[in-house]
Amino acid sequence: LQDGLRSAFKTLRGQGRLTESNMREGLKMVENALLEADVSYSVVKDFMKDVSDKAVGQDVLKSLKPEQQLVGIVQQALIDILGGDSDPALHLKPDVTVLMMCGLQGAGKTTTCGKLARLIGQEGKKALLVAADLQRPAAVQQLHIVGESVNTQVYSEEGASDPIAVCQNAVKHARDNGIDVVILDTAGRLAIDEELMNQLKTIDLKVQPDQVYLVVDGMTGQDAVNSAKAFNDALELDGVMMTKLDGDARGGALLSVKHVTGVPIKFIGVSEHMDGLEPFHPDRMASRILGMGDILSMFELAQREFDQEQVQKTQERLQKGQFTLDDFRKQLNQIARPGLMQKMLGLMPGMGELGKLLQGGDHEKEMRRLGGMIDSMTPDERANPKLIDNSRRQRIAKGSGVSPQEVNEMLKQFDSMATMMKGMAGGGMTGAMDMMRK
Ligand code: GDP
Ligand code: MG
Repeated sequence: LQDGLRSAFKTLRGQGRLTESNMREGLKMVENALLEADVSYSVVKDFMKDVSDKAVGQDVLKSLKPEQQLVGIVQQALIDILGGDSDPALHLKPDVTVLMMCGLQGAGKTTTCGKLARLIGQEGKKALLVAADLQRPAAVQQLHIVGESVNTQVYSEEGASDPIAVCQNAVKHARDNGIDVVILDTAGRLAIDEELMNQLKTIDLKVQPDQVYLVVDGMTGQDAVNSAKAFNDALELDGVMMTKLDGDARGGALLSVKHVTGVPIKFIGVSEHMDGLEPFHPDRMASRILGMGDILSMFELAQREFDQEQVQKTQERLQKGQFTLDDFRKQLNQIARPGLMQKMLGLMPGMGELGKLLQGGDHEKEMRRLGGMIDSMTPDERANPKLIDNSRRQRIAKGSGVSPQEVNEMLKQFDSMATMMKGMAGGGMTGAMDMMRK
């Protein structure tokens, strides 16, 4: 999906204004990319209409290129369709909260139950995992292994054959034992069938879970949409957890499931390990689908907060691999604003490094310290730090009230940052950077 979208926007480069004709080719490619990513046709149709309604006739903002503006519009439409108002919180009750997990066999229910129990435990609450999948012979044992790995108690009944009774007994056990959250790991089938649905409906009716969640396998594309529809018709889902979204940028199924069922996506599974569960954030997912992720956020932030001309210049120098201490100093100035720091770290290329540099302390104070060292350098030294020998280092240290070691440290960090940026400008990130280039 990423590559498709990337080339879609490239076609717009160099145009002055968004018009129907110059957008048509780009939008056609966006459409194809979505279809190829397994987003269902009706969703794509709605989406495309939304985007072109928003885009046509918009004057391109002075500071933006048309492709940047269209990226913004597409991104906003993606956020809308993914559920811009969605809320990943679990909303636990003060006493016992019962979560019922359902889904097809192999979707990742048991794994996700364990991941949730882990998160709940981290919040200082007590979870209870309930072995209500009596269909698969090894399911109960699997849940015990999962429970052990996340330090969570598992409720199961030896030789039980009635999952409804097991769930009811488990909830009672939870009330008597100060448990905060009961997680019901129910049975699945390879395909949706009446028996499965009836069993789940009966649990829903008799146990009255507070929240019913569907676990769907994100790798199954259109099947995920069909099962989400069927489960939602039978159970009125409170949310969807989509698993197996690791690595690859599969956004297609997420888009369709949310659009077709209207059920919010709550969490996404990003690894088979117990720490691989993330709250779902539509804005981050939209960026991920767009394939420019953090770079895009950075440019948006830059557009809102920064001196445009300055950003552009730094950007150009970065592209040429000419990032200097002067640029570094200007970056420090730009981010030395309350609150902005937090937003920027990790977003901007190279800022991850800067983040490490500033770690563990008062950011603003730390930036004044770094800025002070650079201010004590001559323009020559800033352009070419290799000039800085021992006596110059002593002078800089004295001028900025730090030790010569600190000057050394800063120069080393700057060096690795500059090297990394050079690598980025010429290497893997070029696609994204190119697109944004003025
Ligand atoms: P269930 O039948 O619905 O209970 O599914 P399981 O929890 O047993 O999971 C089926 C398989 O999917 C197992 O091999 C899991 O390790 C794997 N799995 C579950 N969630 C994820 C995920 O988010 N990412 C990856 N890579 N694998 C997952
Ligand atoms: Mg299972």
